[in-house]
Amino acid sequence: MSLDGIYDPDNIFAKILRGEIPNVTVYEDDHILSFMDAFPQSRGHTLVVPKAASRNLLDTKPDDLAYVIRKTQIIAKAVKQALQPDGITITQFNGAPAGQTVFHLHFHIIPRYVSENLAGHSQGQMADMTELSKIAAEISANL
Ligand code: 5GP
Repeated sequence: MSLDGIYDPDNIFAKILRGEIPNVTVYEDDHILSFMDAFPQSRGHTLVVPKAASRNLLDTKPDDLAYVIRKTQIIAKAVKQALQPDGITITQFNGAPAGQTVFHLHFHIIPRYVSENLAGHSQGQMADMTELSKIAAEISANL
């Protein structure tokens, strides 16, 4: 999947946005859905996904991009309050050669803990859903 191309409405995040695949939600409004990464790189790895369809940052409408990044900041602050990490990495990948694996724009909020090694991008183990739900509730409570 290169940078250019046609948006695939059957990508996994489109299915999550349509409610066809379950997710552990942190926050939702008319424009974005934020939920826990199912294969987290660290405890509290959270995704922020605009509802408008675009493949990556380059083909996103500027207003949609502005909205999702503003919300990413707000949710990152809630992650900080809830989980007290030592740092937070925000990532976003454009095109498969850059590491993108799901071709619907999203931002990663990845808490960092000095005592813990980070799992590689898209190399996390599938998380326990009960544990993810507890973390999501902690983050939501700080929004
Ligand atoms: P990308 O590689 O496109 O930047 O990130 C895609 C992210 O989606 C990865 O971190 C991966 O763990 C996550 N992911 C893949 N499939 C699912 C899924 O079915 N549910 C959730 N919640 N996350 C997923």
